[in-house]
Amino acid sequence: MDPSSTKIIFVTGGVLSGIGKGVVSASIAKLLQLRGYNVDMIKIDPYLNVDPGTLNPIEHGEVFVCEETWTFTPAKGFNFRIAEIDQDFGTYERFLDKNMHPRNNITSGQVYLSVILKERYGEFLGKTIQVIPHVTNEIKRRIYEVLKKSSPDILIVEVGGTVGDIEAMPYLEAIRQIILEKKFDTLLIHLTLVPYFEPIGQLKTKPTQHSVRTLQSLGLQPDIIIGRSKTFLTEEVKKKISLYCNVTKEAVFSDPDIEIIYELPLLFEKQKLGEILVEKLNLKKKEPIKSKYIEWKEIVQTFKKSKDKIIIAMPGKYTNIYDSYISIKEALRHASAFNKLSLELVYRDSTLYEKDEKIMSNDMKKVDGILLTPGFGTRGVEGMIKVATYALENDIPFLGICFGAQLLFVAFIRKFLGLKAANSIEVDPETPYPVVDLLPEQREQELKGGTMRLGSHPIKVIKNTLLYNAYQKDIIYERFRHRYHIMPKYAREAMEHGLVVSAYDLSGKIINAIEIKNKKWIVGVQFHPEFKSRPGKPSPIYNDFIRATYSYRREKNN
Ligand code: GLN
Repeated sequence: MDPSSTKIIFVTGGVLSGIGKGVVSASIAKLLQLRGYNVDMIKIDPYLNVDPGTLNPIEHGEVFVCEETWTFTPAKGFNFRIAEIDQDFGTYERFLDKNMHPRNNITSGQVYLSVILKERYGEFLGKTIQVIPHVTNEIKRRIYEVLKKSSPDILIVEVGGTVGDIEAMPYLEAIRQIILEKKFDTLLIHLTLVPYFEPIGQLKTKPTQHSVRTLQSLGLQPDIIIGRSKTFLTEEVKKKISLYCNVTKEAVFSDPDIEIIYELPLLFEKQKLGEILVEKLNLKKKEPIKSKYIEWKEIVQTFKKSKDKIIIAMPGKYTNIYDSYISIKEALRHASAFNKLSLELVYRDSTLYEKDEKIMSNDMKKVDGILLTPGFGTRGVEGMIKVATYALENDIPFLGICFGAQLLFVAFIRKFLGLKAANSIEVDPETPYPVVDLLPEQREQELKGGTMRLGSHPIKVIKNTLLYNAYQKDIIYERFRHRYHIMPKYAREAMEHGLVVSAYDLSGKIINAIEIKNKKWIVGVQFHPEFKSRPGKPSPIYNDFIRATYSYRREKNN
């Protein structure tokens, strides 16, 4: 790492969380990547979980899974596997077309665990362990570790949460120290909400002023302010933010509502955000590389030009927040755009289908395809099994992801083998027919955090299957996150009734994908192909699912 040439951009958020800081950080990274720079990204999550793997998606959105697993060693003799990280990394990967490393997600759980275990090992003998300097030093060490490992030209550090949150204080203090130490060229970008106040028809800057004042009281002055708002900020609003927040008017940018998030880098570039980054960070490559810029522009265009549309049902357990299946939604969108189709989702809580079958059949009649979602636990599961049964009975294009594939298998066994009480052990530990059971290595596992089968694994694809059709390869790599699996013993019986096992692990013992013979297109995969889908480069299996969905739609409407 050459400090004189490494640049660090910090991105903080003000007023509200959930205003798209991940997309803004990724867009800033994209502006620099389009100029030919090697960019890496850190996301700081100030919660005390070691990683988000144990969080309910309803609390914090999707849990993203990396290609690699990382052994986090907070102190000698303590090892934790980490492959599950914050969903913003999915956004980073999709914008930058680059795999992110789990070490780049720094959580307070990791930071405090390290400091406390180091204390027990006597690393700070004689000292009182305090937030400043011990916790802040650990934060800085973790940031520098990423710099050392990936030596990017520019590192972007997104701080989760909102300025003023108690949990985020040590991070903001560490950032203040890094800026003060002047070892790196640094930049602080503050993203804030500029709400539109209906009764007077105005964008209001007061919340921005307050959050910048909070930053200033912590010794931090933003260099650039980005206003998240319904529309573009007017010159008047920019002037006001400039005056009250101590930045030049040229350093205030708009982040208006847009339909296609991948357009944000282009929108920023038009506002000359790229230019100001170059200037403030003393960068040499001033303009985006033309061919790369045009390529991104063309990808964005594919999301806008559609010849037709498709409707896909997405029943699930975590439908009450938008972000809980974000990678799946994006993967469906990538594949739709790639096929010049616009996508409408029927996004429904599967417990509704348990209460009233009519609601389910009404939904299913409308749609051209069904994506059955991943998940954990028992709530809403019978509703999901009902959907899989409906797909089998009515021959509707269907893609089951992980839990969705397991529940397709349960539905198949119940229907075609007549074992009505068949279930996954996870859902019904007393089932007489445990058709989905714990993976062998999970049986003795007591720790719940970071212990699933995680990260990327090789998959052997069987020829003459829908899966092979999609990938055209004997061995593929996809990412996993599961504790249970389809039991081979029952799969063998099911094969006599039209089930096809289309993929195994390399040992041939773990079933990685299934499909149904003599149906239009019904596939279940134990892995999560959505994590590797990118705009302009859809996941092969999502792509074929979308194509099957579209031909079914045309067939229906003819
Ligand atoms: N709960 C299931 C398992 O652990 C499925 C997990 C998932 O859908 N990611 O195997």
